[in-house]
Formats: sequence, C-alpha cells, structure tokens
Amino acid sequence: MIQATDKTLSTPETITQTSATFTTLRCRECGEEYELGAKHVCEDVCFGPLEVAYDYDEIRRRVTRESIQSGPNSIWRYRTFLPVKTDNPIDVGTGMTPLLRSNRLARRLGLKNLYIKNDAVNMPTLSFKDRVVSIALTRARELGFSTVSCASTGNLANSTAAIAAYAGLDCCVFIPADLEAGKVLGTLIYDPTVMAVQGNYDQVNRLCSEVANTHGWGFVNINLRPYYSEGSKTLGFEVAEQLGWQLPDHIVAPLASGSLYTKIYKGFQEFIKVGLVDDKKVRFSGAQAEGCSPIAQAFQAGRDFISPVKPNTIAKSIAIGNPADGIYALDIARKTNGNIESVTDAEVIEGMKLLAETEGIFTETAGGTTIAVLKKLVEAGKIDPDETTVAYITGNGLKTQEAVQGYIGEPLTIEPKLDSFERALDRARTLNRLEWQQVLV
Ligand SMILES: *Cc1c(COP(=O)(O)O)cnc(C)c1O
Ligand SMILES: [Zn+2]
Repeated sequence: MIQATDKTLSTPETITQTSATFTTLRCRECGEEYELGAKHVCEDVCFGPLEVAYDYDEIRRRVTRESIQSGPNSIWRYRTFLPVKTDNPIDVGTGMTPLLRSNRLARRLGLKNLYIKNDAVNMPTLSFKDRVVSIALTRARELGFSTVSCASTGNLANSTAAIAAYAGLDCCVFIPADLEAGKVLGTLIYDPTVMAVQGNYDQVNRLCSEVANTHGWGFVNINLRPYYSEGSKTLGFEVAEQLGWQLPDHIVAPLASGSLYTKIYKGFQEFIKVGLVDDKKVRFSGAQAEGCSPIAQAFQAGRDFISPVKPNTIAKSIAIGNPADGIYALDIARKTNGNIESVTDAEVIEGMKLLAETEGIFTETAGGTTIAVLKKLVEAGKIDPDETTVAYITGNGLKTQEAVQGYIGEPLTIEPKLDSFERALDRARTLNRLEWQQVLV
C-alpha cells in the first residue's frame, strides 16, 4: 500500500561499492549526456529516449567467463553490466531460467537446432518482467525513492508489486481495467494500491507520465526506464552463457514496446565488445499479435516510422499501440536480416497449445504469439532449419487462462467405480483424444 501522503525522498541507502561501470545517461538520438538520475528523456535538446552508457574498458578489465560463473545463480551474476552501484541488489532469484533444447516442437516444425528460453518459470512472478523490475527497484532504492509505481499491461504490475513487497517499498500500480483475472489477482495478493484505469495501455501510460511529474514516485518504466530496460539484456547474456559462450544464429522474441527485443540485442553486442563471445551476426525476428501490430505493419510496409494503433487482441501483455522502442526494433530487424511478423488471435491460441503439447510448457498469450510467429517464419522459409534458433517464452499461461478456455477440451467426469472408468475410457478411445495404441504396446 502507499502511505496516506507522499513521502519525500528517503535518504539513499549507503552505497558501499563505488566502482560502478555505468557512467551517464545518453540520448539515443543526439548523444547528449545526463547525470545518472531518474530521467528518461533528453529534455535539454531533442526529447529522444535516454539510455545507460558504460565504461566498456572497465567492464573488460573486470569480467571473465569464470567470474560470471562464480557469481550468484541469478541475473546478478551479470552485475558488472547492470546499472546499479550497490553491493546488495534486490536478489529474489530472478533469472537463470532454463534454456531447453527442443525435440518434439523442433521436429514438428522441421528445425534442427531450436531452443526455448523459458521465462514462464522466472521468479518470483513467472514472467521476464521480474528481470527488469529487480534492476529498476534496486536503482529506485539507490536514488532514494520510497514509493514505486508502473504503467502495466499486467505482468509488470505483478512483478513491481511482488518485488516492492520483498524490498519494503510502497507501491501503487496502474493497469488497464480489462486485464485477465489472473493478472489482477496476481497483483492484489501483494497488497499494493492498484489503479484499474478505464482505458487501454497507451492511455494508462499517458496518465502515469503525468503522475510521475507531480508525485515523487519512481515509475519503473517511465522515469526509471533507462535502468529498467537494461534488465532485458540478461535474456541475451543467459542464452549466450547457456549455449556454451556462443551466440545463436537467430532469435524470435515478442514485441510490445520493443524494449525487450532491443535490449537482447544490446546484451549480445556487449558480450562481443568485451570479448566474452565471438562476433556473430545474430538474426533478430519479432512477434506481434495482429490486433496490435504497429511494428510488424511498419516492417512489412518498409516504413521507418510507427503509426500508432488501437489494441484489440487477446495478447494483452504485448498490446501496446504506440511502442516507445518501435523504431529501434525495426532498425535491428532490418540490419540483422530478421523479420517482424504478426499472427491472428486464433493462431496465438494454437501457438500456446502447440508449445504445451510438444514441450510441456504452458505459456501465456505472448508466448503463443512467439511460437505462432516462429511457425509462420519457418513455413515461409524465413528461418533456415540448420540455424541455431532461440524462441523467447516470456510469460506463464496460468495467468491468462481465459484465452484457452473452451479450446482445450474437458476432463471426463466419472464415478469412483471401475466400470464407470472403463466406459469413459471407451468413449475417450472413440473420441480419439489419446493415442492409446501407442501407449498400450
Ligand atoms: C511486457 C511483456 C513483453 C514485451 O515487453 P516490451 O515492452 O517489448 O519490452 C513480452 N512478453 C510478456 C509476457 C510481457 O509481459
Ligand atoms: Zn537528444
């Protein structure tokens, strides 16, 4: 919960580690540099987005593969590449999720080297957002914020509320009022203040920008956005480390604001820059749901600007109609010879089912979007069967149950009697719902 009145900024916690590797906030458009505060736009010059800049010579001097491997089993093993100063970051076990070598899905699609990066089991709230929030709240604490907040499509609210609870920070989150029940409940349980805004995400975000200007709150994805977004680099770092310190040939990731996608790219580039992996041109493909696909539309039309859209899709977690990092995502897709594709809601559901049936992973709608786009790209010959391809699964299906309700059959209800079971089994066989012959031999 938030306090009755806004607290003024608390005293920043004592920082014991002074040799941070991040140096300034730098404008992505004009290069203007700013001090490392709670700031996200280039307000002196061009209003472009700010990004954290690092001293890569210092990072190179400090890290080796061994030093990373001897670090914690969480995103904080990559701390040298992350924008925090403290020796005691908020470590709730986020990161180091499985990179699964796909067998059955790969065979189904005709791919030889497919991997699934499974952030559906990320900690503590089962989506990749725990990565970005762990970093944003660690930095929020360093900057002296006592209340943290966010504009969320669902998963970010879960993460911010959970990790704020752990860190003892006051929390107020903003969500669109029409979110899935699991996302709302999965936020309320941590007892933050939840503002359900009658509008879409882009309206929520606009409102939050105003609140950020009038209250002294740390909005993880607004005034703390430069720090927050760096957390997604760890999805690049982990894949490189888990592949045995090599980069894949091709990745497929979902796009909402485009931040995740662009930061996986930044993560790969940084590992190359400091010599942890060999240089390689990784192809970047992106996934959107057709009902909110402003980046895919720009890509297909060959445009280098984004025309905002009004979201209308079951893939609510990635339904951002005016994506802040859209143009940077477009640029990466084009220069790496990747693709940005969209799929229908029906294909999203098929994607969720396909991943579950072949790999035992229950992902949410965003993951269904990624798998459906992966399939579409393979069928169009846009992914080579031999390429080492990584599909990023970013969230958990238990949070978006309504998406598949009615599409996955029903249990067979029986009496606690053997003959009732036998009759049901016969029915199941005739319905051909299970491959019994295979099971019985
Ligand atoms: C937020 C989110 C994304 C994409 O986020 P970006 O805004 O593009 O960084 C992807 N998948 C899930 C499940 C998400 O919650
Ligand atoms: Zn600028």
